[in-house]
Order: sequence, then C-alpha cells, then structure tokens
Amino acid sequence: MVRKTEARELRPVNPATLEPVSAPEEVAEAVSDARLAAAHWAQSSFVERRALLGAVAAAVLDHAEEIAATVTAETGKPLVESYTAELFVALDNLVWAASSAGGVLRPERVRYPQPHLRHKRGWLLYEPLGVVGVISPWNFPFGIPFTQAAFAVAAGNAVVVKPSELTPLSGAWVERLFPNGLVRVVQGGGEVGEALVRAPGTAKVVFTGSGETGRRVASLAGERLRPVTLELGGKDPMLVFEDADLDRAVAGALWGAFANCGQVCSGVERIYVARPLQEAFVEELARRARGLRIGRGEELGTALGPLITEEQRARVEELVDDATGRGAELRLGGARPDVDLPGWFYEPTILTGVEREVRIEREEIFGPVVTVTAFGDEDEAVRLANGSSFGLGASVWTRDLDRARRLARRLDAGSVWTNDVSYSYGTGQASWGGTKESGYGRTHSKHGLYELSRVKFADLDRGRVPVPWWFPYDEGVLEGFRGMAGMLYGEGLGRRLGSAWRHRRGMLALGRRYFSRL
Ligand code: NDP
Repeated sequence: MVRKTEARELRPVNPATLEPVSAPEEVAEAVSDARLAAAHWAQSSFVERRALLGAVAAAVLDHAEEIAATVTAETGKPLVESYTAELFVALDNLVWAASSAGGVLRPERVRYPQPHLRHKRGWLLYEPLGVVGVISPWNFPFGIPFTQAAFAVAAGNAVVVKPSELTPLSGAWVERLFPNGLVRVVQGGGEVGEALVRAPGTAKVVFTGSGETGRRVASLAGERLRPVTLELGGKDPMLVFEDADLDRAVAGALWGAFANCGQVCSGVERIYVARPLQEAFVEELARRARGLRIGRGEELGTALGPLITEEQRARVEELVDDATGRGAELRLGGARPDVDLPGWFYEPTILTGVEREVRIEREEIFGPVVTVTAFGDEDEAVRLANGSSFGLGASVWTRDLDRARRLARRLDAGSVWTNDVSYSYGTGQASWGGTKESGYGRTHSKHGLYELSRVKFADLDRGRVPVPWWFPYDEGVLEGFRGMAGMLYGEGLGRRLGSAWRHRRGMLALGRRYFSRL
C-alpha cells in the first residue's frame, strides 16, 4: 500500500510493519534477481529486443489514460503535460531505441590500412553491462525512468529503478510495463538509492537529480569504480536577438519558463534580450503569463499546477524575496495566487534588473520564475549565457541561421536549440546531457546506447603472418623500425622514400623476418 505520511509524501509501506516496501537490504536482492534476467536477456537477438520493446510500447498505449492520471495526481501537473512531456516522450524514446539498437550496437569492423597489420580482422563489440541502476527525480516521474529503462533494455541490460519517494506510483508503472522481470522498481528515499549504488550487482548507475545528490552518488560509485552518468540541474539561458520573431519568442519563453510550473531541468530560467526589444518583450510576456490559468492538473485549460512540496515553494519564495531585496524589479507575480485550493501554488513571476551575483541569477530556481536582462551585442549575450556554473541547455531566438550555427558552437551547454526549447529530451535520436555542474555522460541517441554497453575490441588473426617486434631484438629490427617509422608516418613521398632508403639494411632484415617464417 501507499501511505500518506507528512505533508505530501507518498511512501509505499508494508501495512503490518509500517516500514518502507524496499528496505535498503532488499535492494541487493532485487539487483541479484535482475542479474538473472540480465544474463538471459544479454543473449537476445536485436530482433527479439525489438519485438519485446514493441510489446512495451503497446502496453503504454493500452494504459495511457491510467498512467497520465497517476502522473497528474502525484505531481499536480496539467494532464496535457502528462501526455506530451511524459507519455509521448517515453514512447518516442522507446521506439527509437528499439528500432536503432541493432544498427548502433551490432559488431563494427575495424579496418587496418597499415601494411604490417593489413591481414588482421578487428571488431568492436558492444556488450550489455548487466544490471543498470536508474535513480530518477519527481519532476518527470514516468518519462525519465521509463526512457532510461527503455534504452538500457534495448542495449541488452536489465534495470532496477529507484523513483523519487514523492512519486512512487508513477515509477511503479515502469516495472509493470516491461515483461520478464527486466525492470524492477525499488521504492524508498535516499537510503534506498544509496543501496542501489552500493549493490554488488549494479554494473552502472544512471542518475537524474540535483547536483548535491549527484555528487554523493558519484562518490559512492567512485569508491566502487562503478561508472555513473549524471544528469543534473540547469539554469538555461534564452537569447533573444533583435531579428527574432517576437511573437514566437514570447510564446517559447512562456512555455519554457512556466511549463511543469517551472520544475524542468532544461526550463528557461534566464532570458537575455537585445536591448531595443527588451521592454516590448517583458510587457508581452507579462501580459500572456497573466492569462495562464492556475489550478488542478485534471482540469483541461489549466496551464500551471502547484509546486511539488511546501519546501520547494518556500525555496522559490526565498529566492524571489532575496532578489527583490537586492534591487530586482518584480514585473509580474512574486506571490501565492488566489486559488481555491490548499496546494503549493505560486504565480508566474518575472523579474528584471537582477544583478549577476544575486542568488536567483546563479542558483537553479525550479519554480515558475524567470529573470529578463538586456544585452548589447552578440559577444555580451554569449558572455552572459556562459557565465553560469551550469551548462545543460541554451536557446537562441533569431531569424539568422548563420548566427544560430555560430552560437551553437559558442554556447557552453549540452544542447542548443534555435527558436525552440527543451524539446529534444523527447526524441530518441538527439543526444542529451550537460556540461559543468549539469553533469557528465550522455543519454539518448547512439551515445546513450554506447554508454549502456561495454565496448570490447576483438582481434581475429589467423596466426600466419609474423610479428616483427617480437624477440629477438637485434640491430636489424632497430634499423628496420627506424625506416618503417619514417616510411609510414613521414610527411610527403620524398621523406618516406628517403627514410626507407637510409634504413634499407634494416628494412631488408625486417623483410627477411617475414619471409623466413611464411
Ligand atoms: P534529488 O537529487 O533530490 O533526487 C533525485 C533522486 O535521487 C530521487 O529518486 C531521490 O530520492 C534520490 N536520492 C536522494 N538522496 C539520495 C542518495 N543519497 N543516494 C542515492 N539517491 C538519492 O533531485 P529531485 O528529485 O529534487 O529532482 C530535481 C533535480 O533534478 C533538479 O536539480 C533538476 O534540474 C534535476 N533534473 C535533471 C534532469 C536532466 O536531464 N539533467 C532532468 C530532470 C531533473 P527521494 O526523492 O526519494 O529523496
């Protein structure tokens, strides 16, 4: 059963003992069960994997209404978002991983143009890791763990998921949708997450969450030399240039800053606007934000649900108060809305005149709050955008695609979007990940599949061609390799031939080695 404990937390507990369903000591057991499933699944062909994942997609569609209702009930997010940003994201990632794993992970031939290695047959093999531990947050409680599980299973692994204790029911769906014990869910708080990282059978951890917990997970994993992918927080900048389509940029900012009540790792938190546009931009953003309906996620037309916990709202309030206390101007919001519900709602909030060293400009807010600052030229825009300890995403709003290409290179972020924001988490083929304090490693795409595999180099040699650097070491070998070095790697034909001629005796000696043993 799931028991309501404090303010908002839902904890699955054993009704007899009132202990969490997955006690830390049970996690190792779940991992070792998953290892049995993994050993079997590692032998599966790509055709079998595709068929199984196809059945999972069908199960998601069959249960779509229930899953979306669970997600909205646990998080308060609008039902539309439970479809677009959870179910749709999950399905797209699953289907891409299912159809692409075979192409990406099939054995890859390694070619040898070097004359002394030409007879070799090299291969890169991508083997499953075993059991992948997935630790996930509450903000996309179905889309994130499901996506990570789908990629891991497509790469031939089994998975143990630890959802956030704030959203256990959404997480539980992930286990229910995958057959053959390939995905297990362990429920509980941080201690259960730590047990998953520590469990002897966990081959790798894919962690999505805050920087603070990410550091803890990385150090626990480091003690065990266990690889970990870290998808951490963000402070995404949005750069609006003078030639941007203002209407689209405002609509993008509205959604980027306030969707999921601002609780999005790649949500827009800092907007930098070309100075001549700034006032018009802020006014229009405020006008439209005023029209966003706040309320119950179940009601169609609701744009903003509540924040996830009372603590989260208190943090947002603290950051806004700190900013206004330091001279920032509140252009909209900054208070609890007048809604007929007791939940942890907060108005969409726009701040201008925020100095760079103020906390709200540096720390992740994770609420419906955005700052807008003017910039003079492109260099200043880049400096402002890159002047953050985070580097998850960034967006550029312009009609000039040359500028967009240039900025994609200059911005220090894991993803850069033009005239759009965030969307690529929901596409299987776009690689996802952050720089700096937004974490390391990539998920999604061929890179996500590689990170869920062990790369093995395998060499097939018939054993008929002699190896010239084996014993005995004599003058002939030394001279021969002097000649070979220049002949193979020298600059220009003249130098290459010159090297061979100068060291011709050694080259002949090497030749004799080959022919005497053939
Ligand atoms: P947390 O770091 O608080 O929690 C993430 C997960 O880790 C939860 O399941 C949590 O369990 C678990 N956990 C807590 N303590 C430990 C521990 N000591 N060892 C192992 N696991 C532990 O993050 P939030 O859930 O608050 O998520 C919000 C954060 O996630 C934001 O910073 C956001 O930017 C980031 N995020 C990043 C994304 C990305 O792709 N880069 C995507 C989405 C979110 P429990 O909740 O039960 O305490």
